[in-house]
Amino acid sequence: MDRLPCVLLSTTTDLRGLFGAALAAIADRVEILDHPAEDPERVRLALGWRPPADALQRYPNLAALCSIAAGVDNLLACPGRPPDLPVVRVVDPDQARAMSGFVLWHVIGHQRRFQAYAENQRDRVWRRLYPRDASAVPVGLLGYGKIGRRVAADLAALGFPVRAWSRTAQNPDPGVTHHHGPDGLAAMLGESEVLVNLLPLTPETRGILDARLLSRLRPGGYLIQVGRGEHLVEADLLACLESGHLAGAALDVFATEPLPPSHPFWDRPAIRITPHEACEASPQAVARTLLAAAEAVREGRVPPDTVDAARGY
Ligand code: NDP
Repeated sequence: MDRLPCVLLSTTTDLRGLFGAALAAIADRVEILDHPAEDPERVRLALGWRPPADALQRYPNLAALCSIAAGVDNLLACPGRPPDLPVVRVVDPDQARAMSGFVLWHVIGHQRRFQAYAENQRDRVWRRLYPRDASAVPVGLLGYGKIGRRVAADLAALGFPVRAWSRTAQNPDPGVTHHHGPDGLAAMLGESEVLVNLLPLTPETRGILDARLLSRLRPGGYLIQVGRGEHLVEADLLACLESGHLAGAALDVFATEPLPPSHPFWDRPAIRITPHEACEASPQAVARTLLAAAEAVREGRVPPDTVDAARGY
């Protein structure tokens, strides 16, 4: 069988270094090329993360652009992207499980007051803090998609009251209350102490984590921001921490990555920073996604997990 030529496109990431071994396992079906590829008319697939600005126009016969991640915001924003070019994301249950572990760690850390124990240890203070039961710490989730659902179910299994919010009505898993639309958002926020952001970045969700939204959380609230940096109005978070309305925040994604050394977030003990590592799609999942896209292209089908570009996710 012919191998489908696929070009690697990234300005920030060594895709061959990260995914080479996994891509070698599908080399009998997909031919991996570096950009700029010779004979660009042959190229049918692209695997990308922050592609070079002019790259997509170079390959006039592209049939799909595949992400290495669950989010596709940077691919949809790529200049010169043909509007009808299918953009494919990774859907990986192992990645959702890894995200769940990350979120649970922070939710439990807030509930069990790990930060206070760390400070007491630093000061050699032995003091019991009598943390609250999980049932007393309601958690709200923005986004109830492939990853949000996994996180919500795992939180509910540990006894946290869980409310999830998304754009459309959904049938929630046991232990999860679901809300949708603007009224649903207000209802969910007012009942939540911890807020987890698992939304995709779209024109509708950009800047959604602002003072108006954060101030609706219960006093002493905690933000876990694992969506995209541009969801958050950074000055508004700092003001909510300053006023004491929020007790803290765990931030994994930032408007500017890497987070510059001069950024005020670094100096806030109430902020936990991780470098966009809450979870990643495995190289095997990326290769599986690419192979499925190649097979669909060969058979003239729309690749699985193609996003709705107009909707933005
Ligand atoms: P999905 O596309 O499966 O789910 C997206 C969810 O967001 C859906 O429930 C959707 O609603 C909801 N949504 C989208 N737009 C709106 C809106 N305007 N108002 C309300 N709800 C909305 O995505 P995933 O669960 O796979 O991933 C979610 C995001 O997590 C990714 O896009 C990425 O930004 C982030 N992420 C971050 C990682 C990290 O390491 N920090 C790793 C992986 C992902 P509906 O169900 O109604 O369509």
